[in-house]
Amino acid sequence: MTRVYNFAAGPAVIPEDVLLQAREEMLDWRGAGMSVMEMSHRGKEFMSIAQQAEADLREILAIPDNYKVLFLQGGASTQFAMIPMNLAAGAKTDYINTGAWSKKAIAEAKLLTKVNVAASTEDSKFTRAPEQEELKLHAGSVYVHYTPNETIGGVEFSYVPETGKVPLIADMSSTILSRPIDVSRYGVIYAGAQKNIGPAGLTVVIIREDLLERAGDNLPAMLNYKTHVENESMYNTPPTYAWYIAGLVFQWLKRKGGLTAMAEINMRKAGKLYAAIDNSAFYHNSVERGSRSWMNVPFTLANADLDAAFLSEAKAAGLVELKGHRSVGGMRASIYNAMPEEGIDALIAFMADFEKHRG
Ligand SMILES: *Cc1c(COP(=O)(O)O)cnc(C)c1O
Repeated sequence: MTRVYNFAAGPAVIPEDVLLQAREEMLDWRGAGMSVMEMSHRGKEFMSIAQQAEADLREILAIPDNYKVLFLQGGASTQFAMIPMNLAAGAKTDYINTGAWSKKAIAEAKLLTKVNVAASTEDSKFTRAPEQEELKLHAGSVYVHYTPNETIGGVEFSYVPETGKVPLIADMSSTILSRPIDVSRYGVIYAGAQKNIGPAGLTVVIIREDLLERAGDNLPAMLNYKTHVENESMYNTPPTYAWYIAGLVFQWLKRKGGLTAMAEINMRKAGKLYAAIDNSAFYHNSVERGSRSWMNVPFTLANADLDAAFLSEAKAAGLVELKGHRSVGGMRASIYNAMPEEGIDALIAFMADFEKHRG
């Protein structure tokens, strides 16, 4: 067996220790005589898995007691609709537009609320996050939504927008768990799991309790946060296996020293990759330095005719999924928590070698 270094943006790499543990527990989870996949979500074994996962996530992120944690389905894309439905139907909302995922969130919100785009960096081709001073927040908006890390553009906020008393909503799909955050700064945090948490099919939502009271009573049950809070994310059958794997990832993070340790590693990993790009005349990253993502690193080659050769030679060297998003072109290395530092070192060595032979 040879495992490659997988730079996919999502579904993405999962820690090898977690996969090994899942393999170990595949046929018989701790004496239950069955796989987690086969268990009733209401049985005591799965309930213990679910509760442990939530407790570990609460510990890792230091989630205050007045926040609920939900394990849902439908991806971040469903949250694009649930957020306005539950928190703002018909009201005014502020959105910050920093790229492809912001735009999708805005399109959904426009169906349900009066959206004010408080700032957009489209003029600079989404190569930076706006400064706090650029945000034109509307009086009367009931929340401010932003995308802390734009997975496609590789653009990340280096600060948490200040919104006063207005709840801040964050699509953290591709940056959650990459470093410590102050959860109390947010009204809602949501994330599809398939980037930095675990397998696809699970969506984590962290919501401040008082915001649950904003929903009207005309929402479909599955699209109402209250339903999921009241039923501890088990109103219907949850994605049990994905939830279990996420729990193993949370335990892995705790063993690694939590988010303070992860932040140090992630900063170092991203730092050396950006340095390799910046120190070469052959590779280029067009994101402003202060807005560069720790998790998704897009880059182009000086000669785009070499893209195909770069990808195929990289693949032969065990470095896969480096093709950039079709809207950006070039390459993208997604380097989430689970990407070992050796993977970055191997990529940097490959890039230098490729430049020497082909550049
Ligand atoms: C991947 C991604 C999404 C979409 O997530 P789904 O789970 O596929 O709906 C939304 N926002 C961001 C920032 C993402 O990276």
